[in-house]
Amino acid sequence: MKRFLILVFCAAFLLSAVVFASTDEKKTIYLTFDDGPTHNTPAILDTLKKYNAKATFFVLNDRITENPDLIKQIVAEGHAVGLHGSSHDVNTIYATASKPLEEMNEANETLYNTLGFKTKLVRTPYGSYPYMNLEQYKILKGANYNLWDWTVDPRDGVGAPAISTMLERIKGDLKGNENPIVLLHDKKSTANNLDAILSYFVSKGYSFALIDESMDPVNFMELYGPARKK
Ligand SMILES: [Zn+2]
Repeated sequence: MKRFLILVFCAAFLLSAVVFASTDEKKTIYLTFDDGPTHNTPAILDTLKKYNAKATFFVLNDRITENPDLIKQIVAEGHAVGLHGSSHDVNTIYATASKPLEEMNEANETLYNTLGFKTKLVRTPYGSYPYMNLEQYKILKGANYNLWDWTVDPRDGVGAPAISTMLERIKGDLKGNENPIVLLHDKKSTANNLDAILSYFVSKGYSFALIDESMDPVNFMELYGPARKK
């Protein structure tokens, strides 16, 4: 009887360990929104709130100036803010060695004047690689900026893809992806489809987290570009 009880206890222990391990496995996803804030931001914020989801907004200099109340609302609702520069033009922002840094500093100054704080988080337009060169990257990094690209791209920035198309792309990019950083845009079609996108992530067991300044940045320059660790 004693031996039987010990066996039962061992079996129960093993079972609980298995159950605990499977439920304890947390899947985190990082949502990011580029190019705002715009008049679409309130709808995006409402949908994020519905799912209790937090996101990181990479904002443009002029759009901070044009929409100070919206950038304040983004922060007030618990989201993170990063910089996306000022020109959003490949031929301008990558024109000289120091131009990416200058654009980020300009946007950071505007952010400071609007919100009272600066950020280290940046995303350069169209991603860091192949557009940016190593010198530009080193200058940005040397000024203590953390450069973030993405690993999940529904390509919502180009036109207005159907939700089914975006979900297919998301599904493909999530395969084997241990660090899902989702590129989305502050635009009407994305705002309209956001509910379905977030619902999909929730159904797959993801929880949403902010990118913060202590995290090791993920970017194409380090993954595929000349800054790659060989
Ligand atoms: Zn952009």
